[in-house]
Amino acid sequence: MSQRLTLLGATGSIGRSTLDVVARHPELFSLFALTAHHSIDRLYQQCLAFRPQVAVVASAGEAAQLSRRLKARGCNTEVLYGPDALVAVAAASQCDTVVAAIVGGAGLPSTLAAAQSGKRVLLANKEALVMSGALFMRCVTRARAQLLPVDSEHNAIFQCLSNHPGVRPERLLLTASGGPFLNRSLDTLDSVTPDEACAHPKWRMGRKISVDCASMMNKGLEVIEAHWLFAMSPERIEVLIHPQSIVHSMVVYADQSVLAQLGNPDMRTPIAQALAYPQRIDSGVERLDLTQSEPLSFAQADLRRFPCLGLALDVARDGCELSVVLNAANEVAVAAFLAGVLAFTDIARIVGETLSQTRSVAIDNLEGIQQTDCLARIRARQLAGLPPLSE
Ligand code: NDP
Ligand code: MG
Repeated sequence: MSQRLTLLGATGSIGRSTLDVVARHPELFSLFALTAHHSIDRLYQQCLAFRPQVAVVASAGEAAQLSRRLKARGCNTEVLYGPDALVAVAAASQCDTVVAAIVGGAGLPSTLAAAQSGKRVLLANKEALVMSGALFMRCVTRARAQLLPVDSEHNAIFQCLSNHPGVRPERLLLTASGGPFLNRSLDTLDSVTPDEACAHPKWRMGRKISVDCASMMNKGLEVIEAHWLFAMSPERIEVLIHPQSIVHSMVVYADQSVLAQLGNPDMRTPIAQALAYPQRIDSGVERLDLTQSEPLSFAQADLRRFPCLGLALDVARDGCELSVVLNAANEVAVAAFLAGVLAFTDIARIVGETLSQTRSVAIDNLEGIQQTDCLARIRARQLAGLPPLSE
């Protein structure tokens, strides 16, 4: 029986890598739904190639345009629009697997809906889990959803843990490349450009996560993600700089055995692992030749260079109550940096100030999370000197 997929964020970096793997195995996978935001041309091509039952875009106008173009080519994909349609295709009975690859908090309602509907959820959208941790994991348990991490570090840990079901590890070692600014002189960081921040030395990714890698906020979000996925206290999750991005993370057991998962830095490996789990399929990724790789090295992260990592670790160690605020302020600051309105070094300043101006909040439902998220975005925009968003 083939798996019927809903691919949220089909036009993004993870979405396209997923379709690359899916196209190699037409007998194993078919597409129920593909979603995009504004990349209509790309979604049009994907619909012609994969013939999903449903496509989702941001607005009514874009939906009408896409539908017209598809019909002209004999493609009967139904085109829907808006956030409710994203939730509907994530929860639809016609799909059994949801790949959650929308970027940012915009992906939370649909990713949560997939969990609440008991789907097999392939999670790339780490912001959704960071924002809703306890609620999300409770929904997974209650609905008997199957949660499979796609984020390379968490996928690596998942693979290492699979060898010892039921045995708790002592520690998790999350590796981080250090991004493009690992060795850049500190006094030039305030003048780096968005393109420099997005020029990741090892991975090709969307622009938001690329900036998060440059600031190492990404690794902070991943510590929180690992905390929820593996029920591991943040104190037992260590971050290690590993510039070669070959060891994707490690698990340490009580006997001091350290298990690692290795591979070329190409997201098609974790995507294929999660799509096929518990089987293994060809991912299209080049063979790893360790005799040709640079020597593997590991180091501590310098929190003076990466203050965003320090802020996220503080939030994690304080019980993750402020992780919604951390994520919201970061999304605002990163978008403003990418738009050329803020300096790179302002990201940590805005996130830090937003956090320090917010009281602790314990929230446990989607509405409460969205409200806190919204207030934190307003605060972060004020602190950044940005105009309020009009509805
Ligand atoms: P991209 O920016 O490349 O793609 C984002 C996708 O989400 C696109 O399909 C985009 O549509 C869609 N989207 C953006 N905003 C909205 C919105 N408001 N409503 C609905 N859809 C929206 O991101 P990535 O693929 O790089 O990352 C996706 C997620 O996966 C992120 O959470 C990231 O942290 C995570 N991840 C990514 C990795 C990578 O290698 N790229 C590695 C590990 C995790 P459109 O194209 O129309 O704008
Ligand atoms: Mg990662």
